Amino acid sequence: MKLLVTGGAGYIGSIVTRMLLDAGHRVVVLDDLRTGHSVALAPEAEFVQGRVHDAAEVITPEAGFDGVLHFAALIQAGESMIKPELYWQNNTVGSLALLDAVRAAKVPRLVFSSTAAVYGNPTELPIRETAVTAPTNTYGSTKLAVDLALTSEAVAHGLAAVSLRYFNVAGAYLAGSVALGERHAPETHLIPIALDVVAGRREKLQIFGDDYPTSDGTCVRDYIHVADLARAHLLALTAARPGEHRVFNLGSGSGFTNRQVADVVREVTGHPLPVEVAPRREGDPAALVASADLARTELGWTPEKPTLHDMVTDAWAFYRDQILERS
Ligand code: UDP
Repeated sequence: MKLLVTGGAGYIGSIVTRMLLDAGHRVVVLDDLRTGHSVALAPEAEFVQGRVHDAAEVITPEAGFDGVLHFAALIQAGESMIKPELYWQNNTVGSLALLDAVRAAKVPRLVFSSTAAVYGNPTELPIRETAVTAPTNTYGSTKLAVDLALTSEAVAHGLAAVSLRYFNVAGAYLAGSVALGERHAPETHLIPIALDVVAGRREKLQIFGDDYPTSDGTCVRDYIHVADLARAHLLALTAARPGEHRVFNLGSGSGFTNRQVADVVREVTGHPLPVEVAPRREGDPAALVASADLARTELGWTPEKPTLHDMVTDAWAFYRDQILERS
């Protein structure tokens, strides 16, 4: 297939691009490099630097795309509460422009990076795709708006749409000379921040809140290895059906408190990890754990690295070799 990957210079988009190329697809990457990194770009993919708002310049009818994988987005839940307009403009308005281009060029399928944040404080655990959607942060709202637009687009115009709702993505893709992982700037995610502390680049890990209704009072999250997550995108491309919007949760199905994550980081790295409790972060749900049964049965997806230990091991290997060694 000929595929457009928006956000193909980012953490997840670059790994999916690598796997698509390895599977024999042709890939064009559209990325504005605002948060992505040129070092993560696959040399075999064509690269267009630009915003999704201008996707029509790339997705022309003549270009003959068979599908779009849409990763490009702003992703910080905390920031989305302080600058909501930035998130609506970038994530929702940008995606609607992309959808306009997809419709005009008659591109048959689209796979969208949705998020567990659409569920807010869930009414059931583990969370199924049928659970109530009530985001507690603007980031989740902007993604839910696109999910809803995709349902309309599929019904009205026949698009084969798939939303993959990611839980907490971790780890790195390490295969031969390829090393792709997390390099957010500024970094806001728990595991890479913990690795910064272990590596002596930050003094301590602040844990945001210890008065949540969970086993140790800290938030619970479900972690999924980025390579397992990436593989699900290739399955989703073939599972997409014209006129349908299919939604799948992607997680490992087990939850870890933030303190448990800190313990695994200590165990894997063999280093001390000082923590201090800080106030809650605005918009954080107490617990998010996926039921990924639908992805298993409908997509035939099976995670190969379901343990947090494996994820932190790969994240640490990437951090040590690619970030520390090269800085
Ligand atoms: N978190 C934390 N300290 C940090 C970064 C994150 O305690 O420096 C917490 C955050 O409040 C949440 C969990 O770690 O409870 C996972 O947050 P992250 O930003 O990694 O992912 P999110 O769940 O927001 O997608």
